[in-house]
Amino acid sequence: MKHLIAGQMFLKNNPDHAFWMGIALEEAQKAAASDEVPVGAVLVYQHQEVARGHNQPIGLHDPSAHAEIVVLRRAAHHLQNYRLPNTSLYVTLEPCLMCAGAIMNARIERVYFGAKDPKTGCVGSVINVFDNEQLNHHCEIAGGILEHDCAKVLQDFFKLKRSPKG
Ligand SMILES: [Zn+2]
Repeated sequence: MKHLIAGQMFLKNNPDHAFWMGIALEEAQKAAASDEVPVGAVLVYQHQEVARGHNQPIGLHDPSAHAEIVVLRRAAHHLQNYRLPNTSLYVTLEPCLMCAGAIMNARIERVYFGAKDPKTGCVGSVINVFDNEQLNHHCEIAGGILEHDCAKVLQDFFKLKRSPKG
């Protein structure tokens, strides 16, 4: 029901994960190009893309405009449904508390993330809200999908930010 399994094992079982996380990574690059922290996401229903998006709180003047929220809004609007059952969300970074809450409210079935976020990650790093039985939401979770690539896009971005030229 709820498990955190190493990405490699999932990749062996399902090559789709690398494909969809690749799309999320493309979105992360778009965020970087706009000088936003590079996080990207895509929502998938029955092997088909529903919506994709990237982190853009600065550009939108919206603290809630994380990649996951941007994608959930687009997908819900597209499907004309405030709930998104039987869908899979791929996101390059471990969701924060706000996004974990939105994922629960949207009734997303599976969440696959790339890099861990030791500072704000709420799917195992700081806390794991999906482990709380009282929240009564059953979501399948797996981290570490293309973890190296997902982490590198963030590292490269912050390296450039800290350099004198950046
Ligand atoms: Zn978030």
